Amino acid sequence: MKNKKKKFHLFKCVEFFFYKAARIMNLEPGLLEQIKSCHYVYCMRFPILLKNKIKIIEAYRAQHSHHKLPCKGGVRFSPLVTKNEVMGLAALMTYKCAIVNVPFGGAKGGIKIDSNKISFKEKEKIIRRYTAELIKKNFIGPGIDVPAPDYGTGEKEMSWILDTFLSLVPGNLDGLACVTGKPISQGGIRGRKDATSLGVLFGLRELCNLKEILKPIGLDLGLQGKKIIIQGLGNVGYHTAKFLERNDCIIVALAEKEGAIYNPKGLNISKVMDYFKEKKTLLNFPGAKTLKNSSSALELECDILIPAAIENVININNAHRIKAKIIGEAANGPLTNYANEILLKKGVIIIPDIYLNAGGVTVSYFEWLKNISHVRYGRIEKRFQEKINISIVNYIEKLSKKKINSKERKIILNGPNEIDLVRSGLEDTMISAFNELIMIKNKKKIVDFRTAAYFLAIEKIENSYKELGIFP
Ligand code: GLU
Repeated sequence: MKNKKKKFHLFKCVEFFFYKAARIMNLEPGLLEQIKSCHYVYCMRFPILLKNKIKIIEAYRAQHSHHKLPCKGGVRFSPLVTKNEVMGLAALMTYKCAIVNVPFGGAKGGIKIDSNKISFKEKEKIIRRYTAELIKKNFIGPGIDVPAPDYGTGEKEMSWILDTFLSLVPGNLDGLACVTGKPISQGGIRGRKDATSLGVLFGLRELCNLKEILKPIGLDLGLQGKKIIIQGLGNVGYHTAKFLERNDCIIVALAEKEGAIYNPKGLNISKVMDYFKEKKTLLNFPGAKTLKNSSSALELECDILIPAAIENVININNAHRIKAKIIGEAANGPLTNYANEILLKKGVIIIPDIYLNAGGVTVSYFEWLKNISHVRYGRIEKRFQEKINISIVNYIEKLSKKKINSKERKIILNGPNEIDLVRSGLEDTMISAFNELIMIKNKKKIVDFRTAAYFLAIEKIENSYKELGIFP
C-alpha cells in the first residue's frame, strides 16, 4: 500500500473535509480562507521539576476562530500532542459550535506529556503553570477563551485552572466562567460529565428513526437491538456504552489500549466497568473473548461502530476491513480523510464528530451561562412551577371526578431541577441540529453527513461574518 507510511496531519484532514463542502458552496475565496485558517496559536515551553529533574513541557493553545467570542475547547494531556493536532482540534470546535448554535469560536489546548506517567501533584503543578502562561498572554477568561475537559483531563484539572485564574486575576465577578467542566461545588453544572455521551445517544437515536437511511443499509428502525462496538472506555466511551445499553442496544465489543473483549450476545457494561477498575485491564473479562490486538475489534461484525478515544484510529490501513454499517464519531477526528472516502464508497453511514460529539460543548455553554448569571438552573422557578402543576392536577381531578395515582401525581407535580433542564436543553439542541443537517443534506443533495455538516457550519460562520459587516 503506497500511502502506508503517510504521516497523519489532523489540520490537513479537517481542511480536506472543509474544501469538500466549500466546493459546492459559492463563497468568496477570501472569506473561505478566513473561515478555514487558524487565527492564533500560542506555543509555550516551561520547565517543571519532575522526579528531581528539570523537564521542559511543551504546550499549546490554539484559537481557531474569533468570529464569535469567547473561544471554547478542551485541554488535553497526551504525549502525542503537536501544534498541528491542536490546530485541527480547535478547527473542529469552531464547526461543532456553529452546528449546535453555541455562540463561541473554536479553541483547543494540549500539554505534551503522558499523564499516566506523572503523579497527581506533578499534574497539578503542570496545569497551574499552563494556566499562568495562558493568563500572561491573555489567552484565558470568561469573555476571551474558556477551556474544558478533553482527553486525559476532567473535573479536577478544571478546578486547578479555576483556582489559578481566580488567584492571578482577582476581583472578576464572572471569574467562575473562565473554565467549564468544573465540579458542581466549584460552579460546575449537573449533567456535564456524561453530556457528550448523551448527545451521542440523541444523535444516533435521531438517525435510527430515519427509514430512508436505515432501509438501504438493511437495518430495522430504532436503536433497539443494534449491535454496537465502542473503542475507548474513558469518560465518553463508558457513558455512551451505558446509555446505549439502557436503550436496548447490544454492546458486542469494547476496546481499550491493551486489547478488546467481544461477546456477540452482549456485554454487561457495569460488570465490565467494575472489572476494568479492579484489574486495570479489559483482558480476560469472564464470558467474553479477549482480543490482544485492540484495533482488530474495530473490524468485527456490528451495526454501529463508535470510536470514542482519539483521532486517526480508522485510516487507510484498516478502513477497507471495517464491517460496521454506521460509524458514530464520539471522538474528535477518529477517521482520516482517506478512510472517510473508502468507507463512503462502501456505503457506510458516517455521523461526523462535529455534530455527534457536540453534546459536551453544548452543556459547557449551559455551565458558562449559569456562571455568568450567578444562579443555578431551576432555582427561581422550581417551586412556582410545582404550585401551578398542583392547581392544574387538582382542577383536572375535580372536573373528571377521578384521582390520579400517587406515583403519576409525583411525576406531574415535579418542578424542573437543574439536571432536567440541562438534559432537555441538550436533547433539543441535538434534535434541532440533526433536523438542520438533514434539511441541508436533502436540499443540496449532499450524499454524506460530514459534507452536509461542514456545509451547515461554513454557512453559519459566513453569515456571522457578513452580519458583522466585515465582508460586504
Ligand atoms: N473537549 C470537548 C470537545 O472536544 C468539550 C469542549 C468544551 O466543552 O468546551 O468537544
